[in-house]
Amino acid sequence: MKTAKLAKSFRIDDGKHFRLKDFDPADTGRLHSIEQAKEQLQKDIARMEELQSRLYAQDCWSLLLIFQAMDAAGKDGTIKHVMSGVNPEGVQVTSFKAPSATELQHDFLWRTTQHLPERGHIGIFNRSYYEEVLVVRVHPKVLAAEKLPPSLVTKNIWEERFEDIRCFERHMARNGSVIRKFFLHLSKKEQKRRFLARLEEPEKNWKFSAADIQEREYWDDYQKAYEDMIRNTAAKHAPWYVIPADNKWFTHLAVSAAIVETLEELELSYPKVDASKRKELQAARQLLMKK
Ligand code: ATP
Ligand code: MG
Repeated sequence: MKTAKLAKSFRIDDGKHFRLKDFDPADTGRLHSIEQAKEQLQKDIARMEELQSRLYAQDCWSLLLIFQAMDAAGKDGTIKHVMSGVNPEGVQVTSFKAPSATELQHDFLWRTTQHLPERGHIGIFNRSYYEEVLVVRVHPKVLAAEKLPPSLVTKNIWEERFEDIRCFERHMARNGSVIRKFFLHLSKKEQKRRFLARLEEPEKNWKFSAADIQEREYWDDYQKAYEDMIRNTAAKHAPWYVIPADNKWFTHLAVSAAIVETLEELELSYPKVDASKRKELQAARQLLMKK
């Protein structure tokens, strides 16, 4: 399957009829061999490198990639693999954990806003303001700790947060920031297998966290929250990609295909050299040749 076609089958531009159960975490497209996928991934990575270099030179668009997922879905590995070819100078990765005391003194978009990519750059958010309609929704005590004026916390709070996020992303899009959001869709069964591997394989022990096992108890609540989030925040200018995450090799391929698709759509080109610049280059060349 062509890169663009592969990515499109996981892309949600309009969430109105979105249902998570229509997406299979174990889907591998029509690809059946890891070798074939690896070859395609290498091609995508090389293409991404070329496109990133144009994005940087053109210095007008920025690209924000947001990753959300249940624990052990492979966010870190995906970011590492997919971005392995790009020039590190043009990419910033930011991970968002539970908010600090300072962060809790501000509105929920404050901390992520400070890490938005500048023009010409790619920004990657490993978790994001979307946690505000996920973990915060699943655990009422997290919301209670947010120090909001009580009269502002009503039954409409999630609807209001979706609206704020939609407005924020539209604002960003109108200013040249291209936003693409990835939900790495893992099955409960595969999560169990990966947690067990963290317990059993010494080199994976460091990844194990007892809190992750507790969070697993809330699996169904999280799935509902993810579904509602995608329904309410998928947009043509800021689509969600629901990426099958049970097979890591396929996750990497589908994410890289989506990034290539996005950069291709921007029709990036190196800045044009005008007559005066050409003259300047000519003069510089002559100067160099003299010595
Ligand atoms: P790893 O894969 O290494 O475990 P991680 O992204 O899960 O990486 P952790 O240190 O385990 O990192 O934890 C991040 C935790 O922070 C998650 O449980 C997440 O739900 C929580 N978190 C992130 N943003 C918020 C937020 N706005 N409010 C409350 N909790 C948050
Ligand atoms: Mg974790």
